[in-house]
Parts: sequence; structure tokens; C-alpha cells
Amino acid sequence: MRPTLRSALAIVEADLQVRLRRDDLLFIGHFALGFAAKRAAPRLSLAVLFAGAQLADLMWPFLLVAGIEQVRIEPGITAFTPLDFVSYPYSHSLLFLAIWGVLFGLICAGVARERRMVGWIAALVVSHWVLDWITHRPDLPLYPGSEKLGLGLWNSVPGTIAVELTMLAAGVWVYIRATRARDRVGRRGFAAFVGFLLATYAVSLGPPPPSVPVLIVSAVVGAALLLIWALWFDRHRTPIT
Ligand SMILES: [Zn+2]
Repeated sequence: MRPTLRSALAIVEADLQVRLRRDDLLFIGHFALGFAAKRAAPRLSLAVLFAGAQLADLMWPFLLVAGIEQVRIEPGITAFTPLDFVSYPYSHSLLFLAIWGVLFGLICAGVARERRMVGWIAALVVSHWVLDWITHRPDLPLYPGSEKLGLGLWNSVPGTIAVELTMLAAGVWVYIRATRARDRVGRRGFAAFVGFLLATYAVSLGPPPPSVPVLIVSAVVGAALLLIWALWFDRHRTPIT
């Protein structure tokens, strides 16, 4: 292999590891709510529900690249994550998440032809703010320029892990009861996904990301990987109605 290619691959691999190790994307509580939402919206792919619960974090890297929002890496700022969310009013304020939630809900309801779904999906998108409010230190705005809120669960590693694992277990349980595997992909692809979430969570006390660009690249790569994976196994499971 050519040395440049090899070092490029090494960088991508390191990015992926860092991304999957610790930060907002793998806050597994968001995935827990995505799993649970399948009960309310069985016609939508689990990947769409994950995208709803994680919409804030999916928009965030692009807003960082555009220079509209800012983050800093500050080891020790909380016990759980080294990220200092300096400014992210468009991806993470309560007001904007409500707006994105209604828009995303309208699109989903249009695709699934189910009008009642708008409220559910909007609530799922806004749930991101509520979970982040519980875990983040006071860095979450209500609207651009407002005071910032956050209860700071991330200051306690055992507390964070206890809450997130409980939520994930509950979400997975709801999903298992709401769907039935049609084949091996539906069974094993799903089990492997949950195992992957848990395994990456178990090593979540790795080193902080080396730089913001690394964080951004790995945010996008990590999100794409997990969404495609969810799209895949969910298609091999049938909703139980
Ligand atoms: Zn977030």
C-alpha cells in the first residue's frame, strides 16, 4: 500500500474509533428512544426514527463546518465527555428543535401517509433536547441568545451509565415486542447492532478526540454507519400490529 494511502486510512480509522468512543452521537439514550418510537410509528424504518431522535447531532457537524456553530475540546470539562459545546443554537436550542421536529414530522407523515404521526415525530426530535438537558452541563439554549440550561448528569460517570443502560434496555424491549424477525438478518443484524452500541459504550473512557476536524469527520462517518446498519436489519423485521 502507498504510504499516503496508508496514513489516510489510519486517520479515518482513528477518527472512527474516537467518534464511536465518546461524544454526543453515542449517547445511547437517543437510540433508546428511537427504538421505542417503533411502537408508535411501525411503518417508518428504525433508521428514520434514529435520525429523528438524533436530528440535532446529524445537523451539528455540518453547522460546525460552516462555522455557524462552535465546539472546543476541553478534557475534564465533565467527567463523561471532554466536549465544550461553545455555541449550537440552530442544532440544539429548544425552539429550533421544535421547528425541525415539525418539519421532519410533516415529511415522515407525508411519506407514511399517516397524519397523526407529525406529533409523535416532532416529540421524538424534541426529546433530544430533553435528554441533552439532563446530561449536559448548562450549555443548552432555549432559543438563540437565551440563557443556557443543563442538569449535568455527565459529571457522574456511574450515574450516566446507569441511566443510559436502563433506557437502552427499555427501548430495545419495546422494539422487540413491536417487531418480529423474518430471517437471520432480522435477528442477528439487530442483536449485533445492540452489541455494537454496548461494546463501544464499554470503551467510552478512551482519550478525547485529537482535534475538532477529526471530531467532525468521525461524527458524519459514525452516524452514516449506524443509520445504514439500522435501515438494513429493520427491513428484515415485520411490525406486529
Ligand atoms: Zn446532541
